[in-house]
Amino acid sequence: MHRRRFLTSSLVGAGLAAGVRVIGGSAAMAADEPAKKTPKAELKLCSQAGRLPGKTLKEKVANLQKYGGVGLEVGGRGLAGKVKEIKDALKGTEIKISAICAGYSGCIISPDKADREKCAASAKQILTAAGELGSTGMVLVPASNRPKQLVGKEARAMLVDMLGPLGEHAQKAGTRVLLEPLNRKEAYFLRQLADAASICRDVNHPGVALMGDFYHMYFEETSDEGAFLSAGKYCRHVHLGSIKRKLPGQDARSFVSGFRGLKRIGYRDYCSLECGCIGDPKVEIAKSFRFLEKQWAEATV
Ligand code: MG
Repeated sequence: MHRRRFLTSSLVGAGLAAGVRVIGGSAAMAADEPAKKTPKAELKLCSQAGRLPGKTLKEKVANLQKYGGVGLEVGGRGLAGKVKEIKDALKGTEIKISAICAGYSGCIISPDKADREKCAASAKQILTAAGELGSTGMVLVPASNRPKQLVGKEARAMLVDMLGPLGEHAQKAGTRVLLEPLNRKEAYFLRQLADAASICRDVNHPGVALMGDFYHMYFEETSDEGAFLSAGKYCRHVHLGSIKRKLPGQDARSFVSGFRGLKRIGYRDYCSLECGCIGDPKVEIAKSFRFLEKQWAEATV
């Protein structure tokens, strides 16, 4: 089925099943209204292309499949010109595109209107290509700790305003915008999944969702499980990194609590490596994937 139709029909179907409002042809569910039936969660291991060994994208994909991964995350910069290369690299493999990592220009909450519009226009180009690739969404970091951006309630109001049209474009393309909270050393605005979830709720568009990054969550969340429960149905992607942003399993970071949260929300999207590596990635990535599978099994609910 075409991804766009699938997204729309599955959202409407889920909405009807849960007895919720239907707005503009899409279902919108109150944030605190639980779905009647939570799907069975699945661990879909994935990696950013840059983390994988291999001289070409095709080699990287082949290695990823060998290690037991099923999803590939690629950068968004120039994505429109890379769609064919990416499709060719995936052809004949079990690997699917997961999220598209950023790649837009400008800042969506810049005080400068031209800068905001530059961001929205470049994000739309990436979203169109992301839809063609069947991606779950394009990662959007609303702000970093740069000097020129709106702060506090002005930043939040601007973000909600900007996300409506962006979400509409994303949905039409068959994909989503994925808000990514960062830790305070990188961005003071938007640091917790619950905050991102409340923004998704206020935007109230099926083309706007969020993601969680275990590396950032370590510094900002008091409970990984609680964070994913708050994110709920809005959570459509996950980044994996240890305390020092190395491969999972290479330091003391536990993923069990977070995985329990993902199981409880019926998470079925990808969990993607976004981290460095101590040692040879040709050996260490497979070890990390086995570590993650073990932690997933330990996360009993
Ligand atoms: Mg991340």
